[in-house]
Amino acid sequence: KYKNSLAIFEQLESEVRAYCRSFPTVFTKAKGSKLWDEEGKEYLDFLSGAGALNYGHNNQKMQDALVRYILQDNISHSLDMATEAKRNFLEKFNEVILKPRNLQYKVMFTGPTGTNAVESALKLARKVTGRTNIISFTNGFHGMTLGSLSVTGNAMKRKGAGVPLQNTISVPFDNYFEEDFDTVEYLKQILEDSGSGLDKPAAVILETVQGEGGINAARFHWLKRIEEVCREYNILLIVDDIQAGIGRTGTFFSFEPAGIKPDIVCLSKSLSGYGLPMAITLFKPELDQWKPGEHNGTFRGNNLAFVTAVESLNYWDDDSFEKDIQKKANVVTDFLQRLVKDFPELKGNRQGRGLMQGIKCGAKDLAAKVCQEAFKRGLIMETSGPIDEVFKLFPPLTIEIEELKKGFEIIEQSIDAV
Ligand code: PLP
Repeated sequence: KYKNSLAIFEQLESEVRAYCRSFPTVFTKAKGSKLWDEEGKEYLDFLSGAGALNYGHNNQKMQDALVRYILQDNISHSLDMATEAKRNFLEKFNEVILKPRNLQYKVMFTGPTGTNAVESALKLARKVTGRTNIISFTNGFHGMTLGSLSVTGNAMKRKGAGVPLQNTISVPFDNYFEEDFDTVEYLKQILEDSGSGLDKPAAVILETVQGEGGINAARFHWLKRIEEVCREYNILLIVDDIQAGIGRTGTFFSFEPAGIKPDIVCLSKSLSGYGLPMAITLFKPELDQWKPGEHNGTFRGNNLAFVTAVESLNYWDDDSFEKDIQKKANVVTDFLQRLVKDFPELKGNRQGRGLMQGIKCGAKDLAAKVCQEAFKRGLIMETSGPIDEVFKLFPPLTIEIEELKKGFEIIEQSIDAV
């Protein structure tokens, strides 16, 4: 039951609240990979603000830049006016991210959160092709507004919208375990059937690793084949890199190792680096077909986010950060492989890639219980998957190896306790 310090939340905040039920305490401070509650209890963070804090809490360099910026009465909010902070972001993003990867994209500031980036991608795909249908994947998650929800493969979340959603075709995501079921051929059959008229889809939208849907990592050659199908049938490929991108799977864009070039890419979450709302949609220049004002929104100019985003991009000046992520990812992989062997009662499978991994548990409710026990022991970790069957290790990319190991100890103790 709730402690007294949580009474006002229970009394006043809508029943829809979720994280404060999983982690029933009042948090006050956070630094790096740790949080503290008002009683001074320390927690290790294996959640990272659901992916918004890849560079940790209150990253010192970003904090310094932000404080300096604010104290000089610089612009904080600017619609989509040209500002110095935005120019700095565009220049740095081009120099450090786009150019070295040989990516030619226009950048659109879509509105504050991930779902705004997805809505923009879907709208643009429809506008450019003149068609409405979108291909999405089972267990995909793209956001909670009507458009992004309609391409989300989670019936519970869609039910919250009250009515069934239309103009989407959901197909099976890549599957490691049933090699004989070729999901790409299945997709091709659907495209053959849809013909060349208005039934033909406008776009395919996917995550390379499904963050909410169970940490399912698509194989690189599967992604490549999906891209080939999109080219063959003249359909746009949208990669939603809101959770898997910005280093989470080891490279800035999660699709880089697959060697694909999506037509449209959605970014948000850790884009500002400091947990400040910011989202962009990138698209190939020939898709830049909106007239001024055809998409707008009040909060597209969060200059505080631009300032911290510029600072965060310093991590990408060379490849040392990627190497560091890979090193930590290997430590996580080794641990999870050992965990599956040492705890057969989990009936576990390791899932995911980079610092986006988890254990899919065979036994019902087990993952949620492990997370609950972990919280009691000072580790914040959440579940993923359609029936919450996965516990998800999602630490800041800047976490120390020693901190990772401390988290592993807590996970082992938590499994022992359930
Ligand atoms: N797309 C993906 C892959 C996500 O994981 C999320 C959020 O978890 C979103 C879109 C929606 O982002 P937001 O919650 O910021 O609207």
